[in-house]
Amino acid sequence: AKRAGRSVTRLFDESMDEGIRFRRRVEQGLAAAIGRGELSLVYQPIVGRGDLEVIGFEALVRWNTEEYGPISPAIFIPIAEESNVIHDLGDWILDEALKTVQRFPGQYVSVNFSPRQFRRHNFVGHVMESVQRAGVLPGRVQIEITETAIFDDAERAAETLYRLRQMGFRIALDDFGTGYSSLYNIRKFALDSLKIDRSFIDGMGRERESAAIVHSIIHLGRALGLEVIAEGVETPAQVQALRLAGTSHLQGFFFSPPVAADHAIALAERRVIG
Ligand code: C2E
Ligand code: CA
Ligand code: CA
Ligand code: CA
Repeated sequence: AKRAGRSVTRLFDESMDEGIRFRRRVEQGLAAAIGRGELSLVYQPIVGRGDLEVIGFEALVRWNTEEYGPISPAIFIPIAEESNVIHDLGDWILDEALKTVQRFPGQYVSVNFSPRQFRRHNFVGHVMESVQRAGVLPGRVQIEITETAIFDDAERAAETLYRLRQMGFRIALDDFGTGYSSLYNIRKFALDSLKIDRSFIDGMGRERESAAIVHSIIHLGRALGLEVIAEGVETPAQVQALRLAGTSHLQGFFFSPPVAADHAIALAERRVIG
C-alpha cells in the first residue's frame, strides 16, 4: 500500500509539472502570438426579443497555436489573467473589436474584460484613449465584466462603472447568477444589462431551479430598469420560453455561432436573424 501511495504521489507530481509547464508555455506563447497573428476575434450576434433584430455582437477571442492547434479561451484566458500578459492581450482584443464595430451599420460590440484588466490602474482612461484613437463613440461599445471583477472591491468598482457609463459606454454584468453578488447590491452599480449565464438557460427545460433563477433574474432586471440578455440559447423551446418570460435580448447557437468579422458584418446588414 505504501508503494502504491508513493507512485501515485509521483504521478501526481509529474502531472503537476506537466500542468505548470503547459501554463508557462501558454503564457509565453500568448505574448508571441499577438505579434505572430495567431489571434483572431469572432463575433456572436445578440438579438432583440421582438423582431429578432441584431442589436450587437459579442467579441470572442480565438487562438490558433502552432504547437497545440486551437486552444479555447476558457483555457488560456484564466492563464493570461494570472500574469500581466492579460493586458497586452486585452489591448489587442479591444483594438481589433473597435476596428470591426466601425464596419457594422449601427450595432454595438460587446467586449469581455477580465477582473485584472478592470482593476488595472486608470482602466477608464485607458479604454477611453483606445476608443478615441479608433474614432469610435463609446455608445457603440459594451463592456462585459463578471461579478468577480466588481465584488472584491465594490466601492472602487462602483466608481469605475459610474465613470464609464458617464462617458457613454454600455455595461453588462456577465455570467450573472454564477457568482456571489447579492441581488440587493446590484443597485449600487451603474449597469445597462444582466447576462444570464448559459448554465441556467441550459437547465431551464429540465430543472425547476434553473427556470426559477431565470425568472428571478428577469424580474430583478425589470425592477432595476436593466436589459436582460439570455446567452447560450440553442432551441426553439428556449426562445419561446425566454420571450414569454420577458427577456429583452437573446444570444446563442440558435441564432448564430460566433463568426468571423466579414460574416458578422453580413449578418449586421441583414438586420434580422431567424
Ligand atoms: P462567455 O463570456 O460566457 O462567452 C460565452 C461562451 O459561450 C463563448 O465561448 C461562446 O462561444 C459560447 N456560446 C455561445 N452561444 C452558445 C450556445 O448556444 N451553446 C453553447 N454551448 N455555447 C455557446 P468561448 O468563445 O469559448 O468563450 C469562453 C469564455 O472565455 C467566455 O465566456 C469568456 O469568459 C472567455 N473569453 C472569450 N473571449 C474573451 C475575450 O476576448 N476576453 C476575455 N477577457 N475573455 C474572453
Ligand atoms: Ca461574455
Ligand atoms: Ca457569459
Ligand atoms: Ca461564461
